[in-house]
Parts: sequence; structure tokens; C-alpha cells
Amino acid sequence: MTEAAPIVIAGAGLAGALLAAQLAGHGHRVAIFERRGDLRREQVAAGRSINLALAARGWEGLRRANATTQVLEYALPMRGRMLHDRAGQTQFQTYGLDADEVIWSVHRGRLNQTLMDVAAQAGAQLHFHARLDAVDFASRRVHFVDERDQSAMIVDFSVLIGADGAGSTVRAAMEAEQPLGQTTDFLDHGYKELNIPPRADGKPALDPDALHIWPRGGYMLIALPNPDASFTATLFLPHHGDTSFAAYADASTARAWFARDFADALALIPDFDQQYQAHPVGALGTLRCPRWRQGDRALLIGDAAHAIVPFHGQGMNCAFEDCVALLDLIEKRDGDPTLDWEAVFADFESERRGNTHAIAEMALENYVEMRETVADPGYQLRRQLELELAKRLPGHFIPRYSMVMFTSIPYALARERGELQRALLEQLTRGKHTLEDIDLDAAQRLAAQHIPALAP
Ligand SMILES: Cc1cc2nc3c(=O)[nH]c(=O)nc-3n(C[C@H](O)[C@H](O)[C@H](O)COP(=O)(O)OP(=O)(O)OC[C@H]3O[C@@H](n4cnc5c(N)ncnc54)[C@H](O)[C@@H]3O)c2cc1C
Repeated sequence: MTEAAPIVIAGAGLAGALLAAQLAGHGHRVAIFERRGDLRREQVAAGRSINLALAARGWEGLRRANATTQVLEYALPMRGRMLHDRAGQTQFQTYGLDADEVIWSVHRGRLNQTLMDVAAQAGAQLHFHARLDAVDFASRRVHFVDERDQSAMIVDFSVLIGADGAGSTVRAAMEAEQPLGQTTDFLDHGYKELNIPPRADGKPALDPDALHIWPRGGYMLIALPNPDASFTATLFLPHHGDTSFAAYADASTARAWFARDFADALALIPDFDQQYQAHPVGALGTLRCPRWRQGDRALLIGDAAHAIVPFHGQGMNCAFEDCVALLDLIEKRDGDPTLDWEAVFADFESERRGNTHAIAEMALENYVEMRETVADPGYQLRRQLELELAKRLPGHFIPRYSMVMFTSIPYALARERGELQRALLEQLTRGKHTLEDIDLDAAQRLAAQHIPALAP
């Protein structure tokens, strides 16, 4: 290792580009290497999902890289979920307790471009068409390949950060050194994206202030707004079975099924057949990897360490929170003459492990909530009571969804408190039909008693 070797980040996706911006902004020498071309200049497929839900943890990551102003220019607020039933009737459910509690729809490609710009402005060196191919941990060297002409490049690193996504090559290189004990549980469900264009007058075809959901029990369709007045809809469906991607493999059978299950959405997609046929079915999985670090040499972050299913809209938010946690741990040791990377990586793993496990589980649970429970009257009563208790006990009784989306309360704590609250809400609503049936003062007393106060 030479003294001058930079921190090398593999992958200039969402987490890699944000971390590069944060570290370079704090005076570190950073070089980032991306397999794809530069999506600010070339037509490059931005990767999975056209748009994403951005929430509090993600904004905090952006704030720490001075990127909020740019992102606010194109982020679209979604104030709640708009449920669509089979008859095309809609029902709006707000996400938050007040007008500030919204989640934001952001375009993945644009966000990635912003983060690359911010990283470059902060002084990070960006390299494109550089696919990490092999790592020599002993000599702290990485080998990159340009897929256009197979030319190779060897780079020295001080430390290597694997931000190269769910199929991480850095992780594979660590596994080759010493087994990580990793598993990936693929869901029996996959996803397919469909574009809902603007209406003929250029206006959005659906309410642009909401995340739209067509919950259908075993499957669902959702749609998030885009700045050009279009929506990106995502169909989540089992791979196999009576109602599945296998059963609706061709566009005409899928269209007949959409006409029964999602008639109002189908009416908004004039080129449904072409899109359905052309767009691929994506896989969804949870990566559980017990070790994210290789001595004082390498660390995995974001999806490379803990890819999750997308049903809480938290994969990117969690990856951004990783970046903040790592930056904080480095800053804590900034006065040290030599940075003890091994200790930083160990602290990062112990701080993030339980939290990433918790969000992985909550993301799986939220699929059932989105596709099934939100339309259930029992859920709606529990939700009304939850909001009432949250109003009466501010900062104490916080709905689990709000803890995950609107605060930085550690995920593991949010899950733990969410469990206590869920049990209490079930107990208080048992046999009840409306909020008037419940003694709200008694409910408040019980909640104050059973749910511990949050540490300030
Ligand atoms: C359908 C769907 C919807 C989602 N919706 C949301 C949402 O609403 N909200 C949310 O927070 N999250 C969402 N997510 C999750 C989110 O997409 C991921 O958590 C996020 O992209 C993780 O960022 P990352 O930088 O770790 O990985 P990635 O975004 O996958 O970036 C990895 C980067 O590494 C590059 N790379 C890969 N291999 C190499 C290599 N060998 N050498 C060099 N470069 C390499 C890739 O080209 C890419 O640029 C969704 C995911 C899916 C699939």
C-alpha cells in the first residue's frame, strides 16, 4: 500500500455516489469506480425501478452531502396512499400526522446524476466503464475491466468500500477469502414496471400527491408520480400459480385479467400490450450476510451488505443511513494520527447489523400490509386509533410506519416499539367497529403505561 492510495469505492450507484460525496466533502481522498458509463452523459439504463420513495433517513444522508437543494427541485411529495378498489372507487389514507410528514417520489436516474455531480464537486475522482473484477486484499489492489474493449486497470487502495449492489463482486471476493455465511431468500413474487403516461392535456392521469395502491390480497399494483406528469406503476405478483406471471405470460391474457382486477389503471395505459410484453419480470430477495468486513481492508455497504425487498420503500434510505453511520464513526476518530479502519468497520457492523435485520423483516411484513391489510376495516380502525393516540401522546406513541419513514429512530427500536403498539391496538379494538366504541381516555392511559417513553 502506498501512503497516497485513496479510499476506493466500487459502484457509483446511490450509496456509492453519496458516500463518495460525503467522504470527499470531509477531506478524504476518494476514487469511485462504476461498471456502467456515466449516466450524466450517456444513455445508460439506471437500473431497477424508475422512481423511488425517499424518506427522512434518505434526506439526512443527502443533507450530510449538501445535496438536498438539488434533489428538492425534482422530488414530488406524496401525502398518503390512494387505495383503488376493483370498482375503481378510491380512498385516501394520509401517511403522517401533519402536513410535513410526507414521503417523496424521486427519479432514480436523476438522483444518481445529482449524487455523482455532488461527489465530483466535493473532489472525488469518478471513473466509469470500470467493472471491479478481482481484489487482492493482501496487497490492497483492485483489478478493473472496461467491458467495451476488455482493457484492464489495476488500482491501489487504502480501504475498499463495496457499494456494488445486491450482486456485489466485492462480497464475492471476500467470500473467496473466507466464507461469509451469506444467504439470499428470493420471494416467490416478482415485479414488472408499466408506464402510465400523462393525459392528452399534459396533466397527470392520477392524483400526483399520492402513492397509488391497488391492493388485491395475494398481489398488488402500485404507482408513484414522476416530474413529467407520468407515473411508474409496478405490478407485484407471484411467479407461479393461478394468478401469476406464469399464468399471464402473454399480454392478451394479462390485459383480460387487468380488465377485471385493475380496470381503472388499464384504461390509463394505452400501449399496455407492448409494455407488458417488453418489460422484464424482476426478482425480489433478502440478502442476509453475517460479515460485512475484511479486516482493516474492506467493508460492504447498502445492497451489497443487506439487500431487502422494496415494500417499505427503505432499501435506498437504509443505504443512505449506512453512509451517515460510517461517516460519523470516521469523524469520531478524526483526531487520531492514523485512522483505525478495523475498529471503524467493526463498530459499523455492530451498529448497523440489528437495524438492517429489523428493516429487512419490516419490509417483508409491509408487503402483506400493502397488498391485503390496508383495505381491511379492522386495519382502518386500528389505524384511526393509532393516529388518535399519536396525537394525544406526541413523541411517545408514534405509529411504526411513521417511525420508519419520518424519523431516524433506529430500525430495531422502531420494530420493537411497533410490536408493543400493535398488540395494544389489537387489544383495544377487539370487538369494536368505530372509534366511538372505544374509551379514548382509558386507551391513552393504557398506552402511556405500556409503551416506554423514548429517550430524548
Ligand atoms: C422494484 C424496486 C423498488 C424499490 N423502491 C425503493 C424505494 O421506493 N425506496 C427505497 O429506499 N428503496 C427502494 N428500492 C431499493 C433500492 O433500489 C436499493 O436499496 C438501492 O438501489 C441500493 O443502493 P446501492 O447503491 O447499495 O446499490 P445499487 O443501486 O444497486 O448500485 C450499485 C452500483 O454498483 C455498480 N456495480 C455493480 N457491480 C459493479 C462492479 N463489479 N464494479 C463496479 N461497479 C459495479 C452498479 O452498476 C450500480 O451503479 C427498490 C428496489 C427495487 C428492486
